Amino acid sequence: MSVTDNINAIRKALPAGVELCAVSKFHPVEKLQEAYDCGQRIFGESREQEVRQKYEILPKDIEWHFIGHLQTNKVKYIAPFISMIESVDSERLLDEIQKQASKNGRTIDVLLEIHVAQEETKSGWLPSEVTDLMHNARLAERWPDVRMRGVMGMASITDDETQIAREFQSLKEVYDHLLVLLAPQGITADTFNIRSWGMSHDWHVAVDNGSNQVRIGTDIFGEREY
Ligand SMILES: *Cc1c(COP(=O)(O)O)cnc(C)c1O
Repeated sequence: MSVTDNINAIRKALPAGVELCAVSKFHPVEKLQEAYDCGQRIFGESREQEVRQKYEILPKDIEWHFIGHLQTNKVKYIAPFISMIESVDSERLLDEIQKQASKNGRTIDVLLEIHVAQEETKSGWLPSEVTDLMHNARLAERWPDVRMRGVMGMASITDDETQIAREFQSLKEVYDHLLVLLAPQGITADTFNIRSWGMSHDWHVAVDNGSNQVRIGTDIFGEREY
C-alpha cells in the first residue's frame, strides 16, 4: 500500500469531525510530499532540527505540529513557523513559548500534554497538576500570545483495550474539567476544542473514547528508519 492508499483508507474509517495529524518523523520529504499531494496538510514531527529542515523544503501551507519532548532552549528555532505545540508539559515551557511567540509577533497554539499511562517514562502533567495550574494562573496576563487549544496524551503500551479505553476516558475527563476551570477566563470550547489521542495501534479505541485528533505515523508511512 502506498502513502496515498493508507491515507485514503484512514480517512474513510475516521468519523466526521476527527482530524488526522500525519506523524512524519524520521520519514523522508518525498513521502511527506506524497501525503501532501493527496491533500494532507497537518504533519506531526518530534525533533526540532528535522521539522525546521522539512519546513524549508516543503510547501508553506503545511501546518506543522510539534509532538515530541521540547527543550526550552529549542523553542526559538520553531517559534517562527510552528502551527501547534502539542507536547507542552511544564510552566517553564509555556513561559518560553510566550517569550518566543511575542518576539515573532505570533500567537502560538498549544495542547497540554497529560500523563495517564502507566509507564513512568512518558512525559506530561499529572491531571491534578495541570488543573491546579489552569485554575490559578491568569492566562491572559501570563501567556497572552499562547492559545490553549486542548489536551494531548498517550495510553500505555499494552494489548489490553479496556485499559487503553480507560486511559483515554481519563484524558477526556481532564479535558472536560479544564473546560469548566477555564470558562471564567473566557476560554471556551470555541477554541479549547482539540482532544489529541490515538496512534497507529490504538486510534480506533481513541475515536470511540473522545478523541477528535489522531496522530498516525506507522499506518501511513510504514516503519520508521532510525
Ligand atoms: C511517533 C508518535 C506518534 C505516531 O506513532 P505511530 O505508532 O507511528 O502511529 C504519535 N504521537 C506521538 C507523540 C509520537 O511521538
